Amino acid sequence: KKRVVSGIKPTGEMTLGNYIGAISNFVKMQDEFEMFVFVADLHALTTPQDPVRLRRLVREIVMVYLACGLDPAKTKLFLQSEIAEHSMLSWVLQCHTNMGELERMTQFKDKSAEQKAKSGAIGSGLFCYPVLMAADILLYNPDVVPVGEDQKQHVEITRDIAGRFNHQHGETFVIPEDYTPEVGARIMSLQDPTKKMSKSDENAKGYILLLDEPATIIKKIKSAVTDSEGIVAYDPVNKAGISNLLTIYSVLKNQSIDASVAEFADSNYGTFKQTVGECIVEALTPIQEKFRYYQENPELVDAILDEGAAAVQPIATKNMKKVYKKVGLNRK
Ligand code: ATP
Ligand code: MG
Repeated sequence: KKRVVSGIKPTGEMTLGNYIGAISNFVKMQDEFEMFVFVADLHALTTPQDPVRLRRLVREIVMVYLACGLDPAKTKLFLQSEIAEHSMLSWVLQCHTNMGELERMTQFKDKSAEQKAKSGAIGSGLFCYPVLMAADILLYNPDVVPVGEDQKQHVEITRDIAGRFNHQHGETFVIPEDYTPEVGARIMSLQDPTKKMSKSDENAKGYILLLDEPATIIKKIKSAVTDSEGIVAYDPVNKAGISNLLTIYSVLKNQSIDASVAEFADSNYGTFKQTVGECIVEALTPIQEKFRYYQENPELVDAILDEGAAAVQPIATKNMKKVYKKVGLNRK
């Protein structure tokens, strides 16, 4: 079986973007691949976090993973911070990465501008983030890394770092491929459809949370920014808002964009939005029910995390030893 590794940061409540761009694909892949899915809690520290909130969000992601259908019998679920080798490998890789490469990352440009505007300073963790992500991946030698569009560049730098390391020290890492879904790799903000939907967005109207109440979901979709043309058509450049809703609807309905466009050929925006809203509610209701089940059974969640960590730890230990040996950090 080919191996797959991916994770999500606990920087906020999970959005429909995280579900469509990432989690729903993990669920689809788990029958075919050997899956390692983690909570990227170390990554959350790249932006200021309240410890109490962070602890809650970490648990929530695990419960969301399970509620969305990740099956612990098929997928190893674990917390990044519980496997120390992520941090250890990150340091070694950082010493094989150039500042210039990291300066080019578009996510760093966006997020550092945000941080600078807020506090006047930019954390060095934010700058080094892609190296930790490279470590998360390369530690397990996966074949495929499923991510949304915004993370493609980070998988690319991971490939560069791995290639450079292999060149310097001999074959060590598998060079992984990224995988992004054809439709839904970039769900846009409901309030600014030129920006991607993000869980750390300050405007809650910009995203749908997986745990939003049905009435809230319908309200957020109804107030989504569109255009004044009044025709439901797919045109991401000139009709970004409508196209985003069409994408969401098509993915959740498991049908082509064309089929959705045909379905709403005679609809006005009001009817269209109502149907899209109801479709989201229908998709999220069973997820929310399962989430509540895990919330009521926290010991189950802990057992799953313990098992996941125990399963991946030997792989991390072995690969880290190999890396230390390659660079000369082994006494015997
Ligand atoms: P943050 O704003 O804190 O960066 P985020 O919502 O971007 O949060 P991440 O933890 O950075 O979430 O990303 C988790 C996964 O979800 C990644 O694979 C990412 O590509 C995917 N993803 C995030 N946002 C979207 C989106 N709007 N559409 C599709 N996929 C997305
Ligand atoms: Mg992100």
